[in-house]
Amino acid sequence: MRNNSLREIVRAFRKYDDYILSTHNNPDGDGIGAELALSFGLKKLGKKVVIANSDPYPENYEFLPSNGLVKDKDAIKASYNVAVSLECSGLDRIGKMKKVFLKSKKIINLDHHMSNEYFGDFNYIDSGAAAVGEQVYDILLGLGVKIDIDIATCIYTALVTDTGSFAYSNTSKRTHQIVVELMNAGVNPSEIYQNIYEVSSLGKMQLLGKALSSLRTDKKRGVAWITLKKDNFIKTGTAYGDSEGLINYARSIKGVNVAISFTEVEEGRVKISLRSKKDDFDVNKIALSFNGGGHRRASGAILEGSIEEVKEKVLNKIFDYIK
Ligand code: 5GP
Repeated sequence: MRNNSLREIVRAFRKYDDYILSTHNNPDGDGIGAELALSFGLKKLGKKVVIANSDPYPENYEFLPSNGLVKDKDAIKASYNVAVSLECSGLDRIGKMKKVFLKSKKIINLDHHMSNEYFGDFNYIDSGAAAVGEQVYDILLGLGVKIDIDIATCIYTALVTDTGSFAYSNTSKRTHQIVVELMNAGVNPSEIYQNIYEVSSLGKMQLLGKALSSLRTDKKRGVAWITLKKDNFIKTGTAYGDSEGLINYARSIKGVNVAISFTEVEEGRVKISLRSKKDDFDVNKIALSFNGGGHRRASGAILEGSIEEVKEKVLNKIFDYIK
């Protein structure tokens, strides 16, 4: 359960060669941006690097440079000298890549979730970091890597997505200081924003319509929730990744302190996302009680059961917590 210092992590990256980098299943902007930036930095130091993930990148991240380093999970070696996990609180979050990690000689675990399980030979967990991209930025500086435009674009993507465009409480002075450095390296925030957020398909808008019509609230307790069934994705021609951010509509309602989304990822499996507006309502605790995890104000879990069963279980847990 030991956390390594930044200096120790930098030393480990200097020492080893032959890396595989992976982020969690259903990858998001932070995991993607951070793994790309780290891989470019390691390449500059002459290391062998590949990236492979359990699930493909959502389309709106395809604008990011990848320099041919992202491989199909079925086209990689069985093991590497070092496997680096980015933004996974436990090894199960890495999905189908877990077997390669277990066969590799060393695991480096980089994460900013306080629920992290310290599963690495090296663990660099900083719950004060806004994004794992912020940690990767510090590692690259420690390694003496020059932050070029490709690295800067990827780190900026990690930061802008995990901070809700610099609006969430995890955004710090440090985050903004890094942004200044990334802009000095040439990033164009408005172009990146448009690439990520202004590329919605008609289907995604229709999915938003379904989410909003499913919106329910318990005004007395300050709770709001949305429900997305498998059928909603099929009818709108969308995928799970298209539901990213929809929970914010529930959270943005006046008087709502906790928002939940219930998403049927397949029959009998429901992904829940939890968001809190107040530090004293720790949604990470709720997620942990369902074997998930995350942060105090943003967490998630996957539960077995029908959507109605899961809803009842989770809402009751939240109502109990409020009592
Ligand atoms: P989201 O709800 O957007 O998927 O995730 C919110 C936060 O909770 C993120 O930091 C994410 O990594 C974490 N999270 C989401 N789902 C899970 C899960 O099933 N297990 C764990 N450990 N963390 C999760």
